[in-house]
Amino acid sequence: MVSSKKKVVTKKTSPPLSIAIKKSRGNKDVVPVEAPIVSSYNDQIRPLLDTVDRLRNLNVMREGIHLPTIVVVGDQSSGKSSVLESLAGISLPRGQGICTRVPLVMRLQRSSSPEPEIWLEYSDKVVPTDEEHIAEAIRAATDVIAGSGKGVSDAPLTLHVKKAGVPDLTMVDLPGITRVPVNGQPENIYEQISGMIMEYIEPQESIILNVLSATVDFTTCESIRMSKKVDKTGQRTLAVVTKADMAPEGLLQKVTADDVSIVLGYVCVRNRIGEETYEEARMQEELLFKTHPVLSLIDEDIVGNPVLAQKLMLIQASMIARCLPNIVRKINQKLDTAVLELNKLPMVMASTGEALMALMNIIGSAKESLLRILVQGDFSEYPDDQNMHCTARLADMLSQFSDDLQAKPKDVTEFLMDEIKILDECKCVGLPNFIPRSAFFAILSQHVDEIHDKPVEFINKIWDYIEVVLSSVISKHSDNFPQIQSSIKRAGRNLISKIKEQSVNRVMEIVEMEKLTDYTCSPEYMTSWTQKTGEQESFMYDVLKNGNKPDYFSMSGFGNVKISHLRKYHAHLLIPAFDMKIRITSYWNIVLRRIVDNLALYLQLSVKSLVNCQFQKEIVAEMVDPRDGGGVEKMLEESPLVASKREKLKNSIKLLKESKDAVAAIVDQNC
Ligand code: GDP
Ligand code: MG
Repeated sequence: MVSSKKKVVTKKTSPPLSIAIKKSRGNKDVVPVEAPIVSSYNDQIRPLLDTVDRLRNLNVMREGIHLPTIVVVGDQSSGKSSVLESLAGISLPRGQGICTRVPLVMRLQRSSSPEPEIWLEYSDKVVPTDEEHIAEAIRAATDVIAGSGKGVSDAPLTLHVKKAGVPDLTMVDLPGITRVPVNGQPENIYEQISGMIMEYIEPQESIILNVLSATVDFTTCESIRMSKKVDKTGQRTLAVVTKADMAPEGLLQKVTADDVSIVLGYVCVRNRIGEETYEEARMQEELLFKTHPVLSLIDEDIVGNPVLAQKLMLIQASMIARCLPNIVRKINQKLDTAVLELNKLPMVMASTGEALMALMNIIGSAKESLLRILVQGDFSEYPDDQNMHCTARLADMLSQFSDDLQAKPKDVTEFLMDEIKILDECKCVGLPNFIPRSAFFAILSQHVDEIHDKPVEFINKIWDYIEVVLSSVISKHSDNFPQIQSSIKRAGRNLISKIKEQSVNRVMEIVEMEKLTDYTCSPEYMTSWTQKTGEQESFMYDVLKNGNKPDYFSMSGFGNVKISHLRKYHAHLLIPAFDMKIRITSYWNIVLRRIVDNLALYLQLSVKSLVNCQFQKEIVAEMVDPRDGGGVEKMLEESPLVASKREKLKNSIKLLKESKDAVAAIVDQNC
């Protein structure tokens, strides 16, 4: 039974976004049949739209700033292009199979002139066209952008339509989602298209216009699955249900049930079929929803292309109003960063004098850093990089060296045997109870030889570490001059290897000195000797007289030492051997500590001298050496890397400044 138009209240028919303009009652009253749509346009919204359009024109998206955009998505042949056509009242390439192969940005602008202005823009080209030839022009442009096959490309094509009666909307039509590549399509077509769609619908500023065909089950739509990924709750998704004429049965139920949760609501439409004109199509649509026994039951607030246009404009306007402050903030932020980065880039050098000055700056600032981290222990420049906290790392290495050096070596010979052997070899014709000095030196020299390698290893390790630090500091301060960076680094390496050689010689000297003289002014020697000598008597008793013949003797500083092997020796030999053991032990501790102390002081001295004078001297010498390809002159040629960085930054700054100007007027008005 055909009833008069009944109101069926559907849920979620009004946009939840706060709408800045008043919605006129009964959209159809304000939509003249001859025009695709006439907006009930508020003067406050228009400037906002113009601003966003200007930003889009400037291509501010290139700087990573997202603009509020209506993105049309839908499975293949769901009717995306047809919806856009209905909104714009123009013909787009339409039909079965993949027609839209590049992102098509459609900028519809209402104009008062009776003559429509239509043109295409892509890769810096502007191609004027007219209503009859749009489809053809788009096809040709698509072929240029994405090739003439069936491939797709993410380089956008912009279609400007300035025409009386069109809604002020900017929308992006994307290729439809295909699961299975058809002949001539690349294997990864699905990945390509879904990647492109994701890129457009992911930003929070995007409004997703999900085109669903009434003929399919919405829950199986690929486009629903994708939009759910980025807009789970459907807050920024609006559904257009096309082909209402083809599947009227159950449509009302489908949009009321809202199985796929779409917050911005549904609009059911019937697009142009075949060779109909837009006017005919509009009338047919209106007639269909008014008179069709099933379709007429659907709330008039959610049917027809004019309603769709109206809704889209409202949503777009409120989205813009909401996003603009953030966009302004982002533009300012990006502008500041770009200016800062540009200022950090080196100036283009005009003369050797200038280059020299720049070089001195690099050296000066690197020297400052080195002074802070290597000498003063101020690592505020590298708060998180522990390797650059040099004073602490050097102290660690020194303390480890000290432990290592003073660790008791494993005895290879039995207790006192070294001393006995040496005394035996140093004996001469004379009284028995004198310790020959030569014997003491022989044993001292033996001890020194045993540890000889350790200080050298230590100092090498220290300079290897400092070389890494130096290289990292040089890199940091000369990053803007890649043309001379390697020369400066080479100078740094040469310097370190020179210092290393000097240091090794010096350290070997320090160690050698210990072989030459047995001297200390430390009273500790006598204290230790006196204390240990006190044990001599009981030691001799246990070795030679004790009837129990103990195998071990407990001696302070040595622990339990084996003595059974000593019984075969005469007291004349054992007493001086024991005495020598005590002397060398007491003295050796002092020697080891003296080596550590000496190395520590020497290390500080050479690090300071590296930072304070050698560093600068060496690098200047390397850089002004004319035999070496003229280091400083190299600075006069700007490296291609820096040149292109500079160019890019300049372009960004120009664009961001223009964008800032574009939003300035609107911000002044609204803030
Ligand atoms: P796209 O691939 O999503 O861009 O889909 P098209 O806009 O190219 O439409 C695919 C086919 O569906 C075309 O043949 C259209 O004429 C047809 N079509 C689109 N909308 C409707 C509609 O509302 N009713 C009918 N009967 N056909 C439609
Ligand atoms: Mg299409």
